[in-house]
Amino acid sequence: MNLETQLIHAGEEEKKYEGAVALPVFQSATFAYSNEDNYHDTKYLRLNNTPNHTVLHEKLAQIAGGEAAVVTASGMAAITTALLTVLKKGDHLLAQNCLYGGTRVFLARDIADFGIDVDFVSGNAPDEWKKLVRPETRAIYVETMSNPLLEVAELPSVVAFAQSHNLISMIDNTFASPVNFRPLDIGFDLSLHSCTKYLNGHSDIVAGCAIGSRELITRIVHRLNIMGGCLDPHACFLLLRGMKTLALRVEKQNENAHALAAFLEKHPAVECVNYPGLSTHPQHNCAKTLFNGCGGVLSFEMAGDSRIADAVISKLQLPISAPSLGGIETLITRPVQTSHSGLTEEERRDAGISERLIRVAVGIEAAEDLCADFEQALRGVEEEK
Ligand code: PLP
Repeated sequence: MNLETQLIHAGEEEKKYEGAVALPVFQSATFAYSNEDNYHDTKYLRLNNTPNHTVLHEKLAQIAGGEAAVVTASGMAAITTALLTVLKKGDHLLAQNCLYGGTRVFLARDIADFGIDVDFVSGNAPDEWKKLVRPETRAIYVETMSNPLLEVAELPSVVAFAQSHNLISMIDNTFASPVNFRPLDIGFDLSLHSCTKYLNGHSDIVAGCAIGSRELITRIVHRLNIMGGCLDPHACFLLLRGMKTLALRVEKQNENAHALAAFLEKHPAVECVNYPGLSTHPQHNCAKTLFNGCGGVLSFEMAGDSRIADAVISKLQLPISAPSLGGIETLITRPVQTSHSGLTEEERRDAGISERLIRVAVGIEAAEDLCADFEQALRGVEEEK
């Protein structure tokens, strides 16, 4: 089946409860025994195994081309639980240097408390990975498109490197969503998502997921059950509903982001635009080969300092000034103030994130209206100079 059909039908139970077309919310912490022979099979909300969970697990596994999947309380719950499953005391991880701020902070500071060592590497320097890999290296961790600079790592090389060094390859595929890229198809072992973003798509829940082989997901589920990062049934309900329109939304967001990036690139007040769909992006060819679309996030810098960036943001009428991405409405932020505020100045400099960088997470409005809004905001700032 095609992805659009899987999004509607995969994992849905044939039996309709009281004939309900939409799966109801099973708001029950516990369920009557029905001859389960082990604890992990008894139905209990923390074990993420109510009907609202199992339909999501099956649908996510199918749309991502994995054997199994599990949903979690947030994207960070998926990421931290997966990392703490794959890695143990004494292990070493290679991680891309330009990662989502929460992940970067966890790897740069917290994970050392668990006796795990991390080296940050460029996603485009296999020679550097070779120099840093050690006998105790267990995994390599990257993002499909880095946040907020939209760099595209050499993803097939990451897989080849992991396979030749017996490492688990992990990827945060949030920015692409399974519509634009399916990492398991090119050999990644584990695909992680903040479902808060595109998969749900309506900025009204936080959720996460991990997708991969049954063996790896079983290990993650075990750790998740103990650590308690389960997803609430009402959030499951909203996520399932959101996922049904994933393909439509992401296709529109691909188009909108491309139109806005092209508009900004031509604008004289804009110094640079980061969007892999633009032919000027350094990894454009790689993105074109690997992805069905480049997603809804772009970032840009204007001449001047962070005050100019703030002035533009304040003059925009449509985008809401808020963190996050992947929702139906356009959001705008300065990553230094939001997603990457937990990094030190030096870490941000190393990652190439300037004070004046603006990130736009494009929604599903009309591209024409978005471009017109940016046009008036940029003109307004120029006139005030
Ligand atoms: N991964 C990426 C790429 C993100 O952008 C985010 C949040 O912005 C996360 C993970 C964390 O997701 P959550 O907020 O659902 O925990």
